[in-house]
Amino acid sequence: MKLSEIYKNNDKLIFSFEVFPPKNANTESLFAELAKMNEQKPALISVTYGAGGSNRNLSLEIVKELKNHLKQPVMPHFTCVCSSRKYIEKYIQEIEELGITNILALRGDEPQDIDVCYRDFKSALDLIEYLKKHSELEFAVAAYPEKHPKAKTFDDDINVLYKKQNLGAKVAYTQVFFDNECFYKFYDLCHKKGIKIPIIPGIMPITSFNQLKRIVELSGTKIDSKVLAYFEKYKDSKEDTIKAGIEFATLQCEKLIDFGAKGMHFYTLNKAQSSVEVIKNIT
Ligand code: FAD
Repeated sequence: MKLSEIYKNNDKLIFSFEVFPPKNANTESLFAELAKMNEQKPALISVTYGAGGSNRNLSLEIVKELKNHLKQPVMPHFTCVCSSRKYIEKYIQEIEELGITNILALRGDEPQDIDVCYRDFKSALDLIEYLKKHSELEFAVAAYPEKHPKAKTFDDDINVLYKKQNLGAKVAYTQVFFDNECFYKFYDLCHKKGIKIPIIPGIMPITSFNQLKRIVELSGTKIDSKVLAYFEKYKDSKEDTIKAGIEFATLQCEKLIDFGAKGMHFYTLNKAQSSVEVIKNIT
């Protein structure tokens, strides 16, 4: 099913799960987790590409395997930074040959450990222009409620999202955030600018205090000091942290639904339990 059908005016909340290619293509435990996720009938499963240093080739292998085994649409992420036009052409062709219909079109971050960095595609907009001209794929894009860390201004970011929409993006998924106020402000600014595509909040139920600290450090996402202290209290108990993470994400989602969010994109880190519990709580 194409993104435009998935997100067409629909009164039901639309959930998607993001997974990453497991190391050594060991898919056994991933499939066990996906089976649990699938009980919630997600609209799609998205698969990251080269994120956090994972092997880019592995991504295509996993996409292939998921496509063959899952009923839900599989949406590969794809980043264009540093790749040659030839490589991008081949990758997109392979994706289409698998029968994939949607892709998350990204610029990506320049890898540190790369010998040759091609400058054929400089931003997500270049990739989107390419997809429009040379493929039948529908594309989703990334959005940043707290501003992309390298963007000069918020307006720059919103202008980029506006351009992505005008070039045909069907939906935007946001970077993970923990402070809903950031999303509300961002959403209102997007609305004023004329962005009408669904902007789907990225939700990550916390499962470990160290993981939370790392995300806050790496992405600079805002988190209330009281919330941080709340999770710190449970840091020595995995079970209590998971429970607190589910409670926090449930409350966050309930408020987002009241605000009018059309769905949620769950950053699952390949574990189903927390996202599944949150969905059960809010539906
Ligand atoms: P663009 O849309 O090209 O840029 C986004 C915004 O940041 C624009 O406003 C742009 O002006 C500004 N910007 C970006 N870079 C610069 C710069 N150098 N200088 C000034 N301004 C800049 N990464 C992966 O590697 N693999 C993944 O699978 C992956 N999945 C993601 C999924 C989601 C939902 C999101 C939100 C992000 C994901 N990322 C992933 C991270 C993403 O690749 C980075 O955030 C990247 O830096 C920007 O990609 P983009 O497509 O948003 O870029």
